[in-house]
Amino acid sequence: MSINKKRFLNHVLSSRDFILDLIFPIECLGCGTEGVWLCKDCFRQLPIRTKQYCLNCKKPNEFGEFCPDCAPAYALDGVWIAGDYENKIIASLIKNLKYHFARDLAEILGQFLILFLRNLINKGRIGKTDLGIGINEEKIEKIKKTPEIIFDFKNCLLIPVPLHKKRERWRGFNQVLAIAKTIATHFNLELSTGLIRLKHRPPQAKLSEAKRKRNLRNCFAWTGASLANRRVILVDDVVTTGSTLNECAKILKQAGASEVWGLVAAKG
Ligand SMILES: [Zn+2]
Ligand SMILES: [Zn+2]
Repeated sequence: MSINKKRFLNHVLSSRDFILDLIFPIECLGCGTEGVWLCKDCFRQLPIRTKQYCLNCKKPNEFGEFCPDCAPAYALDGVWIAGDYENKIIASLIKNLKYHFARDLAEILGQFLILFLRNLINKGRIGKTDLGIGINEEKIEKIKKTPEIIFDFKNCLLIPVPLHKKRERWRGFNQVLAIAKTIATHFNLELSTGLIRLKHRPPQAKLSEAKRKRNLRNCFAWTGASLANRRVILVDDVVTTGSTLNECAKILKQAGASEVWGLVAAKG
């Protein structure tokens, strides 16, 4: 197929949902109801993770931060994992997002991440009623353990992990950017696309850990304004070892970011 024809087809596929429906008749991934990727009832039943862990050693914690033993090896401060890949619906949402040109799927995953973030922020909040009874050691401990980005959530910057332009053109749109936009709109957060991917590399999933790291070196660049003292949430669909998120975090910290946290729908 010529590039122009392919581009035209991509354009049609990504912009006209009704044509898309003719080619891939959609039905709820949970219960089979026709015409939607996920019906409201099945969406409500998606389990949201309430506990997190250190991505490297899997030690459980509240906010997904790297534990003191593992943190020195990472530029990334931690990773927030909203759902479980073991959940059949979450896994198929993510797989379909990768292989179809469907903005609706990005919207659903965006809404799921919004629910997750609301839980996460609430967990860090010390309610007025709590303070009414006075401050005690337990509450001070809770405040100490809560990352600053949780208290300063409304000022943080959302950055989607970039796709290479070639891939984006092939796919018709960047699904991670679409997810990040949904979140940014909901919380009224600033969103930046200043992080770009420089080289077209083979997909990470097929590579060993060592090759993944080599594959990522010099792969990203920051093209936006200084990030001095900015707290950043780096959005991606899934995390595996965290090497992509960490490589992005390195670049963002070189640009001045004070904290960089990953936010993903699941761990693949
Ligand atoms: Zn359903
Ligand atoms: Zn650890």
